[in-house]
Formats: sequence, structure tokens, C-alpha cells
Amino acid sequence: MAKETFEFQAQTRELLGLMINSIYTNKEIFLRELISNASDAIDKLHFASLTNRDLVADGEDYEIYLKPDKENKTLTVSDNGIGMNRDELVENIGTIAKSGTKAFLEQIKKAKEDNADLSEKELIGQFGVGFYAAFMVAKSVVIVTKKAGEQQAYRWESTADGNYTIEEAEKDGRGTDIVIYLKDEFVGSDGDQDFTDNYNLKTLVKKYSDYVRYPIKLDYEVEETPKDEEGKEIEGAEKIKRIDTRTLNSMKPLWTKNKSEITEEEYNEFFKSQFHEWENPMEIFHTKIEGALEYTALLAIPAKAPFNLYHSDYEPGIALYSRHVFIMDKCKDLLPDYLRFMKGLVDSPDLQLNISRELLQQSRELKTIGKALEKDILKSLERKLKNKREDYEKFWNEYGKSIKFGIYNARFSGEGLTDKLKDLLLYVSSKEGKLVSLKEYTERMPESQTDIYYASAKDKEAVEKLPQMELLKEKGIEVLYMFDQVDEFAIEALHEYNGKHFRSVSKGDLNLSDAESEQVKKDNEEIAKESGDLMKDIKEVLGAKVSEVKLSSRLKSGAVCLVAAEEGPSLAMEQTFAAMEGNGAPNFFKAQRILEINPHHDLFNRLKSLHAAGGKDGEDFKDYCDLLYTQALLLEGIMPDDPADFAAKLAKLMAR
Ligand code: ADP
Repeated sequence: MAKETFEFQAQTRELLGLMINSIYTNKEIFLRELISNASDAIDKLHFASLTNRDLVADGEDYEIYLKPDKENKTLTVSDNGIGMNRDELVENIGTIAKSGTKAFLEQIKKAKEDNADLSEKELIGQFGVGFYAAFMVAKSVVIVTKKAGEQQAYRWESTADGNYTIEEAEKDGRGTDIVIYLKDEFVGSDGDQDFTDNYNLKTLVKKYSDYVRYPIKLDYEVEETPKDEEGKEIEGAEKIKRIDTRTLNSMKPLWTKNKSEITEEEYNEFFKSQFHEWENPMEIFHTKIEGALEYTALLAIPAKAPFNLYHSDYEPGIALYSRHVFIMDKCKDLLPDYLRFMKGLVDSPDLQLNISRELLQQSRELKTIGKALEKDILKSLERKLKNKREDYEKFWNEYGKSIKFGIYNARFSGEGLTDKLKDLLLYVSSKEGKLVSLKEYTERMPESQTDIYYASAKDKEAVEKLPQMELLKEKGIEVLYMFDQVDEFAIEALHEYNGKHFRSVSKGDLNLSDAESEQVKKDNEEIAKESGDLMKDIKEVLGAKVSEVKLSSRLKSGAVCLVAAEEGPSLAMEQTFAAMEGNGAPNFFKAQRILEINPHHDLFNRLKSLHAAGGKDGEDFKDYCDLLYTQALLLEGIMPDDPADFAAKLAKLMAR
């Protein structure tokens, strides 16, 4: 087969560009990334060999080898793992299959535009660029690889100029050699940036990869004086050179040590190297339980939520070990889905190695361990909320959405999960714009207030501009803001908090019972009576678009608003559903739309006079009704069904 040349995907090129132009000062981590890949490749081989014994010869050791070469200015990272064939090279290395990379590049652009303090470094951490990190230090990279069980080896090469080549090659055993042709500044320099220096390599392995479970080996050239038969140095003999192969990493699993023997830095480095994290975790849980069921768990809440935490391509799960032997990477059934952001591992002699992964995930032992861990995590979150508010808010800003999903999903589970989660909720409130818990909200609400008020829109600015907010603000009633799509679903699932019902500013009646509000309602009844059939006729013009037209008691300066009936979905929920379905919301999930008109707005008088002049069939009256309704839609952020019609009617009006 001749040498083939391929072009990197546009996105890969962009990513490579970022790596080459060196966005990150801490370039040494490329080694950690390559070692993790090597370790993953050995894991994969190990699994494959469980069902196909021919893949690995008896007594053969798994290993990762570092081979620096000062003369040729290269560093090679070798593994005898699963290897790759031609198609896999194209698939895994040549293209960035991960949908997240696109999001990554977009976020980098956005961060630059916004001049946000969210640096590229942090972003890379969330995305884990893996293999491509090699280009931070490389002029070019060559991969020579042979897939386990196959005969042909391949050579991949790229100088990061937008292309790469693949050709057939010779290689003895299976596995992968990554040869990095180092940029000049990373060879032979004095400092710790010389990646062909044994001492530097050892330091890096100790720092980032000490717990990698396969030996990471490095050859040392040692000079020795020859010894006699009794092992004594022969005097005067010329020194001889010998290669001494040393294993750099301790491989002793951190979690088997006692807590008191582990420094914070060790914990942090462990999580960074094992779980491809860039920043120190937000919180670490290290639990050892002895008794009927024995286990050790080492879990962490990562500092940052991965960009794809709620996408289907995110793989949650905790690694499982039995007596320090690795069983599986991402066990999904250990922790409930709302804790999908947790990373870490569980090591238990009570987990059986020899049953299928499916059965293992269903096992009673696993369920018991999972329940206990869930309890620990929830307790710790409660403590954090109580004692370390700032830290909790950081947690909330990263993972709050998960808790809300948890509440929504728990509505059928009947295990009291909702009760456990509801006190963890925080919302931005109209008071001071700070985050408050439901407990804080209900404790400080005046006695006359019976409900918990909330308003939803895409952000704070949008919520505060809702015409429905004006009156509540004036009355000094605190309103919780909801910005996530899942919010209202979670609120519906919660239904109430300690006997207080949730009330949307955009649904049903506001249920205000102060004297002033009562008076407004009475006045409205009067006005409605005086205006005869007006309401009924507006409804008739609008037809099925709305279920009711009425005078509003919630508007102050706004002319009109659209609210949903108290029972059933809100308009925002309907929109979410419609977006999910892609084809409009199904009928059972349509909000009952109620058009509310402000009787104290001049527009109302104009409507009245148009109605008096031409009745419900007057051309202008009909146009006004339509425009009124469309305005209300726009206020809710909903596109009118027929924008052209809206524009035409508005233009006609303006041209008068
Ligand atoms: P990630 O490791 O996060 O998937 P990388 O860009 O580091 O992303 O690697 C892309 C893919 O290339 C890996 O998922 C793996 O399939 C393959 N790969 C990388 N290094 C090796 C290796 N040493 N041996 C076998 N496959 C590898």
C-alpha cells in the first residue's frame, strides 16, 4: 500500500493551531496525556484478552516505556496495549469525532470576544485535548502502531501543517509508539523543560502519573566498576557501561493508603492524572468501610462541569476495582443519575470479578455501596450549604442543574428523593439578585403571603423586563428567577415546599389578597361590565389562539400579557417541549393561553372605541386584536405563527 495523505478536518486543524501556538504555559502535561492514553490502551487490551486469550501471550507484562533520544531530539512513548489499525488511526487520531470539540472551539472564541476571565487554560481542562497536547512541544509526531491480533503495522505522521500521512510499516510487537520530534527549546536546555532528560521525565511521571497501574519504564545508563565473584569491586578495572531499566511510578493505589498519610496535593494530582482533570477537584471523598460489606471509595466533585454533562455523549460513571484489580471504567449504576458529575472509583473485595459487567452493575452489593455513597455526598452538600455558603454557591453554579433534573426525575420514584433534594435548591431572587434557598425564601416571606412566586425567562435581564413582574416588584414581593429549561419542570414535580405552593407570575391568578389587590379585582369587574361584549368579541376574533381574554390585575404599565392557565404547562414549558419534539408540542402539552389586557392603558380605551364604532367585524378592530395578541407572544419570546402578517398589519397602522 502506498503512502496516503489525508487532510485534517477543519476543526482538528483549528485545534492543532491552538496547540502549536501554545495556549497553555504548562506544556509538560502533554506527557501525562500520552501516558493516560497508553494506560487506556493497555486496559482495552486487557479487556479484549478476557474473551480472546490469544491476544496476550502467557506471562507477558504490560508496560509503558519512555525513550528519550537527545541526538535525534525525540521522545517516544511506547505501550504494548491494544494498538490501532489503519481505519482506527483515521477515525481516532485524524478526526475529532467528539461533538464537544466544536463546542470547545466556540467557547474559546466566545471567551476571547467577551474578554472573559475564563481562560483558554480552563477551557482546555474541561475538554481534555488528549493526544493533540503533544503538538504543544512537537515539530512533528509519528505514530507507529500495530493492533493486537493483526499482522500489519502502520505509520502515521503529521507536521501539523493540516495534513497527515499513513503508510504501512514494520513493528515487532503489538501496541503503539508515539514519537515526538521535539521543538528545539525542549531538548538540551538547562531547566525542567528538557524532555529528553531522565531526571525531568522521572519528576513528571512522579508528579502526574504515579498511580498509573502499569509500570512506566525508563532506561538509565549506569557506569560501574566490574565486580569479582564475591561481589567486590575489582580495583583498577575500567568502568563498564550498563543499561539499567527502572520503573518510575510507584503504582501503589493511593486509595489503599490511610487518609492521614495522603497529602492534599497527592489527592489532587491523583484526580488530575486518573480522570483527565485539569483543575484540583472541588471536593474529595475518601471513605473506608469495614464490616459485612467492605469497600473503599475515592470520589470527587470536579472543579468544573464538563461542557457536555447533559448531552447524550457524556458518559457518567464510577470506576470499579476489586482487591485493587481494575474491573470497569464507568459504572453507571452505582450512583443515581443526578450525581452524574461525580468522578472516582470504588474498590471492594465484595464485587465479583468474574461476572458480566451487566450483572455486576445490577448486583446487590453495588446497590448498597451506591446508596451509602449517595447519602455521604448529600450530607456533605447539606453541610456545605449550611457552613460554607460561598463554596456551595460555586457547586451550585456548576451542578445545580443536575439537582433540578434529579427532582424532576424523582417524581415517580417515590423514594423520598425529592425531599432530600429540595433543600439543596438555590435560585436567584428579585431581592438583591442573590441566590436564596427555598427555606430562606419561605422563612422571610411576610405572613400575608401564601405562595412562593417565581418567574422564568432566559436570563435576569429578561425576567426583570417581564410586564408581569412590575406589580410584584412594586408590592415588594420576592420572586425567584428561573433561567434553566428544567426549572419549571422541577417546580411542577415539587408542587410545593413545606406547605407553600409555587406560583408562576405567568400562570393563572396571582392570588394576592391584600386590600389593594382585592379592590383592583372589584374595579376590573366593574370595567368589564361597562365595556359590554368587548372581552367576548376579542376572544371571538382571536378564536382558538387563546382560551380566554380578560382584564388584567397584574399589569402596571404594560398594555397586555399572555399567561397560561393555572393547571397545565406554562408557555415556556410548551416551548421547551416543542423544541424537543422539533415539530411543535403535542396537544396534551399545549399551554392554555389567556390574554390579559390592562384596563388602565390608553390602548384599552382605543379598543373600546373601535369596538363601539364597528363591533367585532370592524377591520381595524380585528387588526388591533391580532396585533395585541402578537405583542403578547413576543413578550414571551415566542415567534408569531405568521410574522409577515404581523409586519403588514403594523406597517398599515404606522402608515396612517
Ligand atoms: P481521548 O483519549 O480523550 O479519547 P485522544 O485525542 O487523546 O482522546 O485520543 C483519541 C483516540 O486515539 C483515543 O480515544 C484512542 O482510541 C486512540 N489512541 C490514542 N492513543 C492511543 C494509544 N497509545 N494506543 C491506542 N489507541 C490510542
